[in-house]
Amino acid sequence: MGSLESETSVIGWAARDPEGILSPYSYTLRRTGPEDVVIKVLYCGICHTDIHQVKNHLGMSNYPMVPGHEVVGEVTEVGSDVKKFKVGETVGVGVIVGCCRTCGPCKSNIEQYCNKKIWSYNDVYVDGKPTQGGFASSMVADQKFVVKIPEKLAPEQAAPLLCAGVTVYSPLRHFGLNKSGLRGAIVGLGGVGHMGVKIAKAMGHHVTVVSSSDKKREEAMDHLGADAYLVSSDVVKMQEAADSLDYILDTVPVHHPLEPYLSLLKVDGKLVLMGVISEPMQFVSPMIMLGRKTITGTFIGSIDETQEMLEFCEEKGLTSMIEIVKMDYVNKAMERLEKNDVRYRFVVDIAGSDLDRKPDV
Ligand SMILES: [Zn+2]
Ligand SMILES: [Zn+2]
Repeated sequence: MGSLESETSVIGWAARDPEGILSPYSYTLRRTGPEDVVIKVLYCGICHTDIHQVKNHLGMSNYPMVPGHEVVGEVTEVGSDVKKFKVGETVGVGVIVGCCRTCGPCKSNIEQYCNKKIWSYNDVYVDGKPTQGGFASSMVADQKFVVKIPEKLAPEQAAPLLCAGVTVYSPLRHFGLNKSGLRGAIVGLGGVGHMGVKIAKAMGHHVTVVSSSDKKREEAMDHLGADAYLVSSDVVKMQEAADSLDYILDTVPVHHPLEPYLSLLKVDGKLVLMGVISEPMQFVSPMIMLGRKTITGTFIGSIDETQEMLEFCEEKGLTSMIEIVKMDYVNKAMERLEKNDVRYRFVVDIAGSDLDRKPDV
């Protein structure tokens, strides 16, 4: 255990340039402040965003960069003012590790919408040092941004919930779509979409998966437990399903027409966008006026919602579909994720990997 006074040296796997290849990198964690929790990382999920960040797809990457924002670990040290967490507990850290605490969103405990939020990695912390993510032996985070992993949730199962899970839970909760008996659809069956099916089913919904081809029908129906499957180009079936849905979670991260989906919604139905699409999207206004429909979008979820979602998943015995890999497989895993060659989520077994080689500084 490190002393409260000194910086701890850790080994993470960092990208050094936009090629995005991760390799061992040693750096120090800040001195443990009164509000800080030091975490020995056990598992960290690989999110699509990690690929965009390490390869500088958004043009905002700083190197060396240790990615990873689906972090589950064990508390090894707590600052003097930390009352919520104890050494030895299993905890999680997600997409953000800081916020201004004074703006409207911060005061309303929806800090994910704070304009001064601090990202878990590829950002600068209040001490002026770069933030580094969960592909590392340890991480330090302010207690406000740490959640408890409920006892009955396996730590490796909890990892994808911290980004993909809360991303789908938050809009359902916020828009009052978490009551049972609703009919919803998930468009796109990647990491977020698969959590969408699982969480919506756990809420007691009738869930339709909408996809561009028939390829994922068996997966959706037999493995994820969806109730129906629609191919978006099947005009007849899409027509039959018109006006039938309370909501659609649209997880597709590339440009696509909205109108076929809008017509599936009932009066007051909601289309929630959660894929990052940089081209302008189009629809004609009667598509939403004649049905008082809403097109909206949400971004991850608050820390409170993340905690609530974890407890919901524990209570419902919900599991995510993961492929556990060691750290030395991370580059290959990212390559496969980029090609969609994974059943939903890679989780890196950090504690079980040999990170301790000579850093190639
Ligand atoms: Zn993510
Ligand atoms: Zn704020």
